[in-house]
Formats: sequence, C-alpha cells, structure tokens
Amino acid sequence: MRVVIVGNGPGGVELAKALSGEFEVTIIEREKLPYYNKPMLSHYIAGFLPEEKLFPLPMDWYGRKGIDLHLGTSALLIDRARNVLMTSGGEFPYGILVLATGARAREPVVPGKEYLLTLRTLSDAKRIREGLEEEGEMLTSSPP
Ligand SMILES: Cc1cc2nc3c(=O)[nH]c(=O)nc-3n(C[C@H](O)[C@H](O)[C@H](O)COP(=O)(O)OP(=O)(O)OC[C@H]3O[C@@H](n4cnc5c(N)ncnc54)[C@H](O)[C@@H]3O)c2cc1C
Repeated sequence: MRVVIVGNGPGGVELAKALSGEFEVTIIEREKLPYYNKPMLSHYIAGFLPEEKLFPLPMDWYGRKGIDLHLGTSALLIDRARNVLMTSGGEFPYGILVLATGARAREPVVPGKEYLLTLRTLSDAKRIREGLEEEGEMLTSSPP
C-alpha cells in the first residue's frame, strides 16, 4: 500500500522513516530543500552554524530508505472519491494520505507590520540575515 505524506518536516520524515520497508512511501514537499533543522535557524542567523550543517540527512538517505521524495511540489487538492492527491507536479494516488504540513508563523496586526519579518523557513532566516547585514541590528520577539 502507498502512503503519501505531505510535508518533509520532522513529522513527515519521522513517519516516513518508521513506515519505510513496510509500506511504499512518497513525500510531497513544496520547499525545494531536503529536510533541515528549523530549531538551528537562529544559530545560522547568528553566524554560529554554516548553512550545510542545517541538513542532517545526506541527500541519498531518501533513496536508501526507498522513500519517493518530490521537492518543489505543492499539494493542492484531495480527490477523496478517487483517493488521489493533486499537486503542482501531477497526481499521486494514495492508500493512506497524511497531512504533516506543520504551521505558519503568525503575523501580528500592529502598526509598522510592513517592517516585520517572521522566522519559520530557511529562506526567512536568509532574509533576516541579509537585513542584519544591511541594517546592523534588529529587534527580536518570540510569542509568549
Ligand atoms: C526558529 C525555530 C526554532 C525552533 N525551536 C524549537 C525547539 O527548540 N524545540 C522544539 O521542539 N521545536 C522548535 N521549533 C519548532 C519545530 O521546528 C516544529 O515544531 C517542527 O518543525 C514541526 O514539524 P512538522 O513536521 O509538524 O512541521 P514543519 O517542520 O513545519 O514541516 C511541514 C512541512 O510541510 C510543508 N508543506 C506545508 N504545506 C504544504 C503543501 N500544501 N504542499 C507541500 N508541502 C507543504 C512545509 O513546506 C514544511 O516543510 C522551532 C521552529 C523554528 C522555526
């Protein structure tokens, strides 16, 4: 049976690892990057960690586990009548479909919002790093 997992974050990757061998596993991920360590993004921004150290798995890990990985592919629609996931890269039939799509950073509605940057992805981290290089300093805030 084929398990199609949407999301290549820790949730999707850990599930794929646990199921590979017993099931045929496909991962659909809209980002173009293989799995990376989000908690270490702040260390990357601070310059304590080079970009390549954010990626804990070698690129051939998926192939060795028999996991069919589709990067740069967005899940768009679920056709439950046919058990097919429609994506930007075509249709994926599934026996079991798992949505491991994580969360988005919440953007507060405050004056000056246009100057705010949120941190969730590596591209967010790169934007913040560039801002620091250009502006020299920024104010950071975490949710309570
Ligand atoms: C800066 C930072 C620091 C953190 N520090 C900690 C920490 O110290 N401790 C801790 O426990 N947690 C920490 N976290 C949180 C932790 O990273 C998340 O809890 C974890 O990544 C959630 O994993 P997930 O697999 O559920 O979702 P995600 O990691 O968000 O993965 C979901 C994936 O689904 C993809 N996706 C979403 N929609 C679609 C779609 N329609 N089609 C295809 N793909 C899609 C996304 O691109 C994403 O790659 C931190 C997060 C950040 C950003």
